[in-house]
Amino acid sequence: MDSCIFCKIVAGTIPAKKAYEDDDMIAFHDINPAAPVHFLIVPKEHIPTLADCGDKHQALLGKMMLLAPKLAQELGAGYENAEDGPDGGFKALFNTGPDGGQEVYHLHLHVMGGSRPWKGQR
Ligand code: AMP
Ligand code: ZN
Repeated sequence: MDSCIFCKIVAGTIPAKKAYEDDDMIAFHDINPAAPVHFLIVPKEHIPTLADCGDKHQALLGKMMLLAPKLAQELGAGYENAEDGPDGGFKALFNTGPDGGQEVYHLHLHVMGGSRPWKGQR
């Protein structure tokens, strides 16, 4: 998709602060972070939304979901010591369609977390 900003990041024609890449997906830091750690996991294939995914995307979606906690851990938003109370963790979400607040119509998984001392959590 020539006009798609995330296809351009995948192709390397516009820059992004990349955190991960393999044959199927890339991850990069959100340009307008909503949390101390905020990155996007993006498939290389242009799929507009989660609602456009079908059975053939099952493995890809699984890979994206499983990358989230690993990369969150690496980037300082891991989930540790859950039984000890608030100590790390993140939100992972797919905004889907206009009512889901989606702005970029190339599938992406937001991962948001990190230390938020102003919330009394570290
Ligand atoms: P969504 O509303 O789920 O479509 O979110 C799109 C996200 O992409 C927003 O959080 C934007 O800040 C982010 N974004 C848009 N353009 C770029 C870019 N060039 N590099 C990194 N993040 C971007
Ligand atoms: Zn695209």
